[in-house]
Amino acid sequence: MNKIEAINIDKEPITVKHSRLERTDDSDFRSVCPICKEGTLLVQRDLDSFKIRADDFCILCGQRFIYSDIDEMRKPERIEDEKNAKEMEQLINSLITYWIADTINLSSIETKHPAFTIVKKIAANDWEKELTITTILERIEKEPTWFCVILRDIISKEEQPVLPDEYRGRMDKITEMWLNWGKEKGYIK
Ligand SMILES: [Zn+2]
Repeated sequence: MNKIEAINIDKEPITVKHSRLERTDDSDFRSVCPICKEGTLLVQRDLDSFKIRADDFCILCGQRFIYSDIDEMRKPERIEDEKNAKEMEQLINSLITYWIADTINLSSIETKHPAFTIVKKIAANDWEKELTITTILERIEKEPTWFCVILRDIISKEEQPVLPDEYRGRMDKITEMWLNWGKEKGYIK
């Protein structure tokens, strides 16, 4: 056992700038522990959001750290996230356009269409659900479409607005209902 193992584990966290620490290798994240000089700070991620955490510790001496430049550390990933979100939004919008073009002459609402199925699959992924809902709401705000019935399949029963009987078959009323719901829940402004 190494003599310095966990010796600093109970000490108060030290605030450091991640950008000032020495990296262990060509990694953007792993740094040499500025206290014991032998251990490594790996950079931790939040298990739910997968975001980089401001707190970290040395895997050898146990010293805890707080990164004061956490916003800077997260920036490259934030840019990447925004880019991915834009692409996903465009994909969902193209699928809606495809669905509208393909089903415009049908007398019933086509929910077995591949575009409909794909959007449902995208929304089934926890990471994409919110983005999918927002994209659909923003789309129907500009262009009301029966595609909005997909929201019934995406959003849990408990969360959905109750459809008044007199709204049945009325796209204008249903669109308005969903937009009000979306604003209330914070999906759209
Ligand atoms: Zn250390």
